[in-house]
Amino acid sequence: SSSKHDKDKGVNVQVILRCRPLSADEMRLHTPVVISCNENRREVCAVQNIANKQIDRSFLFDKVFGPSSQQKELFELAVSPIVNEVLEGYNCTIFAYGQTGTGKTYTMEGGARKKNGEFPSDAGVIPRSVKQIFDILEAQNAEYSMKVTFLELYNEEITDLLAPEETTKFIDDKSKKPIALMEDGKGGVFVRGLEEELVTTANEIYKILEKGSAKRRTAETLLNKQSSRSHSIFSITIHIKECTPEGEEVIKCGKLNLVDLAGSENISRSGAREGRAREAGEINKSLLTLGRVINALVEHSGHVPYRDSKLTRLLRDSLGGKTKTCIIATISPSIHCLEETLSTLDYAHRAK
Ligand code: ADP
Ligand code: MG
Repeated sequence: SSSKHDKDKGVNVQVILRCRPLSADEMRLHTPVVISCNENRREVCAVQNIANKQIDRSFLFDKVFGPSSQQKELFELAVSPIVNEVLEGYNCTIFAYGQTGTGKTYTMEGGARKKNGEFPSDAGVIPRSVKQIFDILEAQNAEYSMKVTFLELYNEEITDLLAPEETTKFIDDKSKKPIALMEDGKGGVFVRGLEEELVTTANEIYKILEKGSAKRRTAETLLNKQSSRSHSIFSITIHIKECTPEGEEVIKCGKLNLVDLAGSENISRSGAREGRAREAGEINKSLLTLGRVINALVEHSGHVPYRDSKLTRLLRDSLGGKTKTCIIATISPSIHCLEETLSTLDYAHRAK
């Protein structure tokens, strides 16, 4: 029917805004707050003083989470419905976008696991998604298989965060080629040699997440690079065996990508200062292209420039078409971040 057809064509991009609280240091220094969040009206206001005139700018989003919002609340209201879609066999992607220090990693990963194995209240989107997936599959007594990958994209080069230790030792070896992104000849891509870990329990995934994050930090120190300039993609692929009412066996396949993007300050400043433009351009080709891809999807413009960056090539099967995308834009309430905050609000707002 035509209504089903429309629904299938419909692009599903949700944009969520989260403002972190002032840090203890910022509180101590009485840092002025220039952001106000109205969760009910789904509105964020930025107050700016230009030439002694106060200018208010307001932005609407699908959902707004103010400084006192909790991890559990953000997950239940914004992410949980998307996880259910994945279990229905859809590919979905959740991005954290924003200036360094505004809470991207806190939102995606959250606090460390407690020693006694208890689920911490500050656990982020990734562990909560994993928990929900296993809770539902176990409740359904479903027959399934699950695998995860965890990679980092830095300067358009892919690093496998789950590669065995032996490979890590050669990380400084100039002759070692970065992992290649290959065309599969059917319009898709795959990453040659990327580790795929089969998992059967939530605890295994938590361990993999910890291992990958630790490796990201080690590689960072070794190569003197900054995590603020790299994107990390944690992907969970699930195959679920189901029986139709006719007794026929079918396999449903869904994929969830959880992406902690590079700090957005690199793109917003590149335009202003020529000296940094080239470097920022290389580092954040992916961030700029992501914005263009999402714009093209939202505006239903014909050409979607997936091919212009590694990030969008990697996520192509999970962006557009019958997929759900959620962008969590993170900001600081501080006056010192106002310029970056306004550019994040603009970027995220345009994605609607
Ligand atoms: P990013 O990944 O964007 O650079 P982080 O996630 O590392 O930022 O957050 C910076 C700091 O702010 C961390 O110490 C983090 O714990 C804290 N933080 C961020 N968001 C929140 C929040 N919503 N509630 C409490 N603390 C937060
Ligand atoms: Mg971070």
